[in-house]
Amino acid sequence: MRASSIGGMETHNFVRALQHVAGSLQPSRLMRAQATSQAAQRESAEEERPAPAGAAGSASCVPGKKPYISAKWRKRTAVAGIGVASGLAIGLAIGLTIGQTLTCPTGSNYVGSANRIGTAPALRGSLGCVDTAAISYRQTLSSTIAGTSTGTTTVNIYGPFEAGFSSAQPGVSCLGTQSVVGGIDTYTAELMIRNMCNVNSISLLDTCGDHANPRHFHEMLTNCLSGQVASGHSTRLGTSGDNRGIYGFFEANNTYPVLDVCGAHVGVTPDSNGQPVVHYHSQVYPPFFVGCYTNADATMTPTQCRALFAGCSSAAYSITTAYGSGTYQRDCPCWDPTTRSNVPGATGTPGYWPTSLRLPPPPPSTG
Ligand SMILES: [Zn+2]
Ligand SMILES: [Zn+2]
Repeated sequence: MRASSIGGMETHNFVRALQHVAGSLQPSRLMRAQATSQAAQRESAEEERPAPAGAAGSASCVPGKKPYISAKWRKRTAVAGIGVASGLAIGLAIGLTIGQTLTCPTGSNYVGSANRIGTAPALRGSLGCVDTAAISYRQTLSSTIAGTSTGTTTVNIYGPFEAGFSSAQPGVSCLGTQSVVGGIDTYTAELMIRNMCNVNSISLLDTCGDHANPRHFHEMLTNCLSGQVASGHSTRLGTSGDNRGIYGFFEANNTYPVLDVCGAHVGVTPDSNGQPVVHYHSQVYPPFFVGCYTNADATMTPTQCRALFAGCSSAAYSITTAYGSGTYQRDCPCWDPTTRSNVPGATGTPGYWPTSLRLPPPPPSTG
């Protein structure tokens, strides 16, 4: 597939293809490096690894890993009188495993579970799935919006974080002895790599916002999954693990919703029969689709979110891009909706991002 199509790829797609091929050739090296740098995070989530070409479905080379349940969550649920010793047992007791990657079906819509409301999604796996109508919509769009790769049937929606990058992945050999550690969102990691390599054309995602094998979304870059209804609200693009809908960028014509830390709010959607419902919206900043499975009324606070993830208790990590420097908490998907930082006490937009805010792509002309 790749050998025959690389010649026609845009530069950034070419880079991605090489990275994934490289990942498939050297899994043990990647795993060793990541095992060293991510010991704490490995306890917390499904691992995201490039899989061999054609091996769709083999998302993990660390089978049987335990899902992450934070100490605070275990303590809280124990205090609440649920009466079991571990969060894992709690998850099993309610019929699912908290923090585990979802299995997204093809040809039908994913159905989530309300038992996940208020819990932590997978950090290196699917936390939502693209609906069939959105896949069909994507396939009506031009390649400049939908992308040109084989990924126009992508169903997996991952969280914001990547597992890390090094020069072992061709296409970013310019990293030399430098590397990007795991647990950093795709937008920030891309800015870091561009700065390390001094190459602004490097992109970690294809045109639409998906990549890799098994193919998955981290961001939606071009409105490739969502149109708009007459009111301007974006159409539904997918279903989250907690069975809430995920929509595009827009709440109304040229306006954006006010969202909680998870990326959700309460409102009427194109498919809610006029009733206000909790739902998620895509954003151009992380968490991009879903940061956490929000609570019953979409009022999750950064503090509440942070209690769900071990990464939010880790030491702040220093990040530098061409725009400047700032601190970051790896594998902590709890960005304050006001400051856009995932570090408590931050006073403004992180210094490693451009000062002129990134804007969502223009609304789709049809839908
Ligand atoms: Zn990825
Ligand atoms: Zn909305």
